[in-house]
Amino acid sequence: MAVYLDNAATTKPCREAVEAINNALTENYGNPSSLHKMGLNAQLVTDGARKKIADALGCDAGCIYFTSGATESNNLAIRGAAAAYGRRKKRIVVSSVEHASVAETMNDLEKNGFEVVRVHPDSTGRFAPADFINAVDENTCLISMMLVNNETGYILPVKEVFSAVKRRFPEIAAHCDCVQGFMKLPVRVSALNADLLSLSGHKIHSAKGVGALYIKKGIRVIPQVTGGKQEKGIRSGTESVPLIAGFGAAVEKLAPTINERYERACGLRSFLLGRLSEISGVTINSPDDGSPYILNISAAGRRSEIMLHFLEQREIYVSSGSACSKGAQSGVLAEFGVSRSDADSAVRISISSETTEEELALFAEALADGIGKIKT
Ligand code: PMP
Repeated sequence: MAVYLDNAATTKPCREAVEAINNALTENYGNPSSLHKMGLNAQLVTDGARKKIADALGCDAGCIYFTSGATESNNLAIRGAAAAYGRRKKRIVVSSVEHASVAETMNDLEKNGFEVVRVHPDSTGRFAPADFINAVDENTCLISMMLVNNETGYILPVKEVFSAVKRRFPEIAAHCDCVQGFMKLPVRVSALNADLLSLSGHKIHSAKGVGALYIKKGIRVIPQVTGGKQEKGIRSGTESVPLIAGFGAAVEKLAPTINERYERACGLRSFLLGRLSEISGVTINSPDDGSPYILNISAAGRRSEIMLHFLEQREIYVSSGSACSKGAQSGVLAEFGVSRSDADSAVRISISSETTEEELALFAEALADGIGKIKT
């Protein structure tokens, strides 16, 4: 039995998503921009999915723009808002633990004349909202903070920070990468006080290659891809109707059960922590109050990649860090105060609604075995 515990990297598409994708590939294959009935039907599919995502976020369907994934959503939000608001105001404030699609985009803007201020967690590995709020000044055009960190599950104080910043500087654009929070925690744009919010389809049991960006009414984003003016000119290019349909179907399926799945994930996390506490040398890098879907541990000095391949031989799939960085350390664990040697033996276990205690028990058993067999 394969035990898939790498759901923060990607998830298995659900039946509903696959059916919606299949239907759009085989029946509803029109181009939403075509003026005839086939085009209209395809547009009904994309607009239906748009409405499902908007309902889940508590916003108007007109605020949702489809993209090729969260990497593009993050690029569009940050580059687009920086271009719209950053003519005179050159300061951008961002957390130091963002995904590469935000962090690298910031590095690029920095090379192009922006002043990027990275706010770090404090010595206890937590973000003090005041540290972020105090870094924002009247010269700031954009702030960006992810909701759930993809490597540790740490939940950042987005609501506190965005609300305080917007109270003092209502004109600053506030962006949140919600990829690891959407459909796992209740994410409402108004509660977070976000102007821009990025989502990804393949992290919520739909297909890879589709994402969305929420843009609050009145917030300006300069398009980064120009062409046929699809998505109201914000993101040109023929919409991937099948992938969008799948994204909508997955949201429709998952949205009603966020709370009960969260409770279940908490139970699974406690179960796993119980098993891990019996293995000597295992340390926990995730905070107690993080997302229950992601647990980052260090395996008694055994190198991550060696452990990963040891587990793989037993058909147990985990990650040595963030899958996007292909095993290369992103530096995010160090930001959270994890030592170099603990980071070198880090293993990320990320669960889904389908994960069972039996699978977690198999993982814990194999990990203990690996620690016994792998040399430090
Ligand atoms: N942000 C976060 C927090 C992520 O975990 C990921 C995926 N690893 C992304 C953005 C990028 O998403 P996508 O794969 O859809 O480009």
